[in-house]
Amino acid sequence: MTTLPNTMTGVILPGNSTVEFRTFPVPKPGHGQVLLKTRASSICGSDIRAIYRAHLGKGPEGYQPGMIAGHEPAGEVVEVGPGCKEFKVGDRVLVYHISGCGCCNDCKAGYMISCHNESRAAYGWQRNGGHAPYLLAEENNLIHLPDNLTFLDGALIACGFGTAWEALTRMKVNGQDRLLITGLGPVGLAAALLGRALGASEVIGVDTSADRLALGKKLGLIDHEVLSNADALGKIQELTHGHGCEVSLDCSGAGPARLLALKATRQWGRCGFVGEGNDVHFDVSPFLIHPQITLYGSWVTSLGHMADVTERLSRWNLHPDVTVTHRFKLEEAAEAYRVADGGQSGKVAIVFE
Ligand SMILES: [Zn+2]
Ligand SMILES: [Zn+2]
Repeated sequence: MTTLPNTMTGVILPGNSTVEFRTFPVPKPGHGQVLLKTRASSICGSDIRAIYRAHLGKGPEGYQPGMIAGHEPAGEVVEVGPGCKEFKVGDRVLVYHISGCGCCNDCKAGYMISCHNESRAAYGWQRNGGHAPYLLAEENNLIHLPDNLTFLDGALIACGFGTAWEALTRMKVNGQDRLLITGLGPVGLAAALLGRALGASEVIGVDTSADRLALGKKLGLIDHEVLSNADALGKIQELTHGHGCEVSLDCSGAGPARLLALKATRQWGRCGFVGEGNDVHFDVSPFLIHPQITLYGSWVTSLGHMADVTERLSRWNLHPDVTVTHRFKLEEAAEAYRVADGGQSGKVAIVFE
């Protein structure tokens, strides 16, 4: 058995667009807990929006100052606490990033994201996350990572791919659908990859960044790229012979992009919002009621559905890590966050030896 160090360096986010390194003890797993050796910990848009630039959430809902950041971890079990039932030393895992009470209806359904108990804690927000060499996790938050998926694949499933999967499966995307994605950041790219795998017959991507559109095209994830400007709706109508898309999903969180997604949805189609923040205004009769559109809001996913998408990606031999454009070591976390904040990149991740 390898001896573990007593201390480790972790990254915290002070909330002024900087990162800070602090020394932490390497934790001991308690009852029902495991210690992971972190192997990948990717950076999420919500880390940038609500923690890195400024601490937006207040009180128990917000990032707790001094907490190790990173809510998209994957790693290897190196120590198992008493009472663990399923996971053992050496297992490769990803972590569903919220630990819920386990007793409420949302937790029972696996939607720990929606738990309202005061014990609810998100990794990297209210309890230590993946930006450190070791992570203390609850056994019941873990998902087995199949051998043909990389640790980076696992980290990406832990948030963004889970979120995209939930919205797409809730909207029942299938081979009859053209899929429109507004916002080709990491979640948008995830939606494009998964939408194709679920059978979408054509994927149209919209973004304000030509670089992001080019990345989606280069990866073979989108069939058509539409630059977000005044002509975008006309371009989409042209590409769809005036019909619009059966399914549209906003992954940008920007008001105008949400509106574009809605207006470009085909009559009787489905439109979903997963991009967070901001607002949107529209006349409900011409844009929602009369075109008979079903509008979906979808937040993260359930533990069971995250296990489903992990299994399917493994079976299809599809790798979320193709969407990673920048990999950094933990010591380079400041640069990693700077790049992620730039809004021009694909996924940015911290990887460990
Ligand atoms: Zn995330
Ligand atoms: Zn709960």
